[in-house]
Amino acid sequence: GRRMLDALSEPYMRGDQEIRPNFCIGIAIHPEDAITAHELCEAAESAAARAREEGGRTLHYFSASMNSRAFQKVSMEKALEKALADQQFEVFYQPKVQIADERIVGMEALVRWRHPEMGLVSPAQFIPVAEETGLIVDIGRWVLEQSCRDTVQWQKDGFDPIVMAVNLSPRQFRDPKLLEDVLATLEATGLDPQYLELELTESMLMENAEEAVKMLRKLKDRGIHISIDDFGTGYSSLSYLKRFPIDALKIDRSFINEVNTNPDDASIATSIILMGRSLRLKVIAEGVETRNQLSFLRVMQCDQVQGYLFSPPVPEPKARELLVSLGAGGTSQKVA
Ligand code: C2E
Ligand code: CA
Ligand code: CA
Ligand code: CA
Repeated sequence: GRRMLDALSEPYMRGDQEIRPNFCIGIAIHPEDAITAHELCEAAESAAARAREEGGRTLHYFSASMNSRAFQKVSMEKALEKALADQQFEVFYQPKVQIADERIVGMEALVRWRHPEMGLVSPAQFIPVAEETGLIVDIGRWVLEQSCRDTVQWQKDGFDPIVMAVNLSPRQFRDPKLLEDVLATLEATGLDPQYLELELTESMLMENAEEAVKMLRKLKDRGIHISIDDFGTGYSSLSYLKRFPIDALKIDRSFINEVNTNPDDASIATSIILMGRSLRLKVIAEGVETRNQLSFLRVMQCDQVQGYLFSPPVPEPKARELLVSLGAGGTSQKVA
């Protein structure tokens, strides 16, 4: 391999120009890597693609893991398309509980894929592929519509109104039709925009901050709420935070997990709460699993919590039961 690379890398002259060849080589071997000529070429191409990723003038042997990775992506993409057509997606709901009175003030919509053979597939397994292929835009549109419908139905059934939070992926946020889509869905379902909240991450906002501010403005002008998800894990400039028209910060679960025992996590959580308050933002703690964590957050005057302590994400009928047992709409509820 090395000798071949050296020979090929050798600069040569054409006229008075020196040519330094750039190339990437993929090698697949018969019959270990593939049997048919066609498969053999594909294997070699996968290996060449890997060589390209490593920069020019490299050579890469095929390995079986490349095949399975490429295969997994392609087959997952096909399966996701089918899942949309066959309505294999479901929305689960996890309550957001106001600490002051422990009543439900909101729900977060979390998508689930009920695959006929694999069973329930978690979003961590399919969202990345959906994001890469662009299917997330269609899936997200479906999640938004379903969750808005359920929210309206709960109101019709007499529950005090709560805010529905829907996650947006980077691809959805970049989609030029986002605003149009969201407004059309609100219109079609009859949900008042003040009961919709969109959850975005810091990196989505920082990627193109100028454009992000414009888009958030448009959403806000319609009355839609915005929260920053997984807050503290990305890098966000605090001065930008001031410029983004947002309503809430969600403290990432990783800081809440050991908030009672790890002084660093306690400091970070406390700082986020204080900063949120001084910027007049609501602060929500994610991943609250114990009464001790809740007590800490109450003392620090965090506004809301979400986590297994009150409920994991649950299907719609169970969410409805939670609205009954915990109570919907906090007594002193301020909508953002
Ligand atoms: P996320 O938005 O940060 O959602 C919180 C995740 O933490 C959820 O995982 C939830 O089930 C889990 N969780 C909630 N409370 C607790 C707790 O007390 N302890 C622990 N250990 N975990 C808790 P899930 O449902 O698997 O979703 C994972 C991620 O997938 C979400 O993270 C979100 O980024 C993404 N996602 C889910 N649904 C959608 C969707 O409809 N659209 C988009 N774009 N992304 C989605
Ligand atoms: Ca979220
Ligand atoms: Ca989160
Ligand atoms: Ca997350």
